[in-house]
Amino acid sequence: MSVSQNLDRVRQRLRQAEQRFGRSPDSVALLAVSKTQPAATLREAWQHGQRLFGESYVQEALDKMAALDDCAIEWHFIGPVQSNKTRAIAENFHWVHSIDRLKIARRLSDQRPDSLPPLNVCLQINISAEPQKAGASFDDAQALAVAVSRLPQLTLRGLMAIPAQQTEFTRQRALFNKLHRLFDRLNVAGLQLDTLSMGMSNDLDAAIAEGATIVRIGSAVFGERQK
Ligand SMILES: *Cc1c(COP(=O)(O)O)cnc(C)c1O
Repeated sequence: MSVSQNLDRVRQRLRQAEQRFGRSPDSVALLAVSKTQPAATLREAWQHGQRLFGESYVQEALDKMAALDDCAIEWHFIGPVQSNKTRAIAENFHWVHSIDRLKIARRLSDQRPDSLPPLNVCLQINISAEPQKAGASFDDAQALAVAVSRLPQLTLRGLMAIPAQQTEFTRQRALFNKLHRLFDRLNVAGLQLDTLSMGMSNDLDAAIAEGATIVRIGSAVFGERQK
């Protein structure tokens, strides 16, 4: 299968899931997760109409940005954010999905150049409460959201999660429902969130059923990653 064919199939899956779960047409955006893929492969996807790309490693992403600077790509950072990488992220990305503490958010806001629009960010929430996993806890989410929403050079757009692996649809959906309910609760509390970043190759239908607005798809677009 080529990247173009995979993209067609994933797009079709998204449109079918939107219909099946009563979502508006095109309300779910496809973020192509291109970590470990070479720039030429991203270009192939770009030529087939893909515009949103997600990367997890800063230096790898910067190299691809340089190789693809003739393409109007929207770059999303989805990996763990280390303090010593915040400047490169603030200067080069359009979105960060993986904010889980205020210190990192402050650095990104301070280091975001004034010449650029505010950086779009999501809070990563540890919905399965797995101790070894990144993400803010449910209990901390509201205070963190309020604090991040006040940072001048960030725009808090929503929430992101990477749930524990589940194969069963109802279990996948139950986890995404927790994020969805938190999202609703924060909006009732006065935050203005419009983004739920959830769903990967193996659970995108359940995520769309629960209101995902961005699904992050790697292997279904690019094939299995080399380990
Ligand atoms: C790698 C990755 C994905 C994509 O996973 P696939 O199972 O290949 O679709 C999505 N989100 C994050 C945060 C990732 O690191």
